[in-house]
Amino acid sequence: MYDVRKIRADFPILAREVNGKPLVYLDNGASAQKPQVVIDAMTRAYSQEYANVHRGLHYLSNLATEHYESTRGVIARFLNAGSEEEIVFTTGTTEGINLVSYAWAAPRLQPGDEIVLSIMEHHANIVPWHFLRERQGVVLKWVEVDANGDLDPQAVLEAIGPKTKLVAVTHMSNVLGTVVDVAAICRGAREKGVPVLVDGSQAAVHMPVDVQAIGCDFYAITGHKLYGPSGSGGIWIARERQAEMRPFLGGGDMIREVTRETITWADPPMKFEAGTPGIVQQIGLGVALDYLMGLGMADVAAHERSLRDYARDRLKGLNWLNVQGNSAGKGAIFSFTMEGAAHAHDISTILDKRGIAVRAGTHCAMPLMEHYGITASCRASFGLYNTVEEVDALVSALELAHDLFA
Ligand code: PLP
Repeated sequence: MYDVRKIRADFPILAREVNGKPLVYLDNGASAQKPQVVIDAMTRAYSQEYANVHRGLHYLSNLATEHYESTRGVIARFLNAGSEEEIVFTTGTTEGINLVSYAWAAPRLQPGDEIVLSIMEHHANIVPWHFLRERQGVVLKWVEVDANGDLDPQAVLEAIGPKTKLVAVTHMSNVLGTVVDVAAICRGAREKGVPVLVDGSQAAVHMPVDVQAIGCDFYAITGHKLYGPSGSGGIWIARERQAEMRPFLGGGDMIREVTRETITWADPPMKFEAGTPGIVQQIGLGVALDYLMGLGMADVAAHERSLRDYARDRLKGLNWLNVQGNSAGKGAIFSFTMEGAAHAHDISTILDKRGIAVRAGTHCAMPLMEHYGITASCRASFGLYNTVEEVDALVSALELAHDLFA
């Protein structure tokens, strides 16, 4: 039984006030709050169990290595990967996608080769591909979303041509909450022999993910949205693709042997992990994912579906609010503008005065902003600890903002 009151008690920050009001944290799409178990694990790691990993033979180094490495298995379970060797640690999705761009795509793609993207990608899944456009003449092909903000898998497959070498697509839009049928895209792309990279930054936070069932080649996640530490994360890379990749960063840990004349690489995943990593961050991420699996991702998803339905109904009642995207199966993420003069920044400032944290701006999705003909929006993004009372608080604060600006 999903008891949101009990769950809220796991997150100490939710008990605080902001501007004299109880905190209503609706900025989970940007970064989520941390449960006490994660904070405790990180404190313990620093205060009792800290040393550098992999290279030491002493007790603390072995202990830190054991805890750090155990997160690989936790991520593998969380994503239902076939093996923990398919998990490469990263500092987040941004690094994961840059890794694929640099280590897999750059050496393979020729001028005129194409990468298919949707218009609702986060900049983390756009800019690394623009680098390839600038540096080696790769062509970016954009697939539009429909009037509801849905991405038709068929439209993505139709964009694949003989020169397409990769499809890079989000599993859930960080602006619209749209959930993309990535399994359908992967099925069709596989028939055409084109690999698929899935940006799982948002989706993995809100629903069970099974990379084997999806059938993708790369699946990137970011720890700080998964109720874990900032600077933690991972990317699942299918073995077949790993075998095609050159290393990413050069340094300690990723080599087998270095001489004056030659270098040889360690086996994956170490081949893609150079230097001292975010040891304590990854330990914290393992604990966060265990916490999520303890709650049950299907139950988290069901709770957030009910919040979404309630919020959708309440926001529909505000006829001066324009909510971007209305996908039937979307997650509990609502981006909106207000009719009249109110800028997204002004709205968010008024909400903040009431203790309500939302995001305002372009949400690192400028091509999508352009698609909607807006320069900024406010975004309320819900997480596993939010309540219907917090939806009500959001709606009354929006009414207040509208009264002020109307
Ligand atoms: N992709 C999506 C859909 C996101 O929402 C975000 C974060 O906002 C990212 C990628 C980038 O994640 P990070 O900044 O943690 O690397």
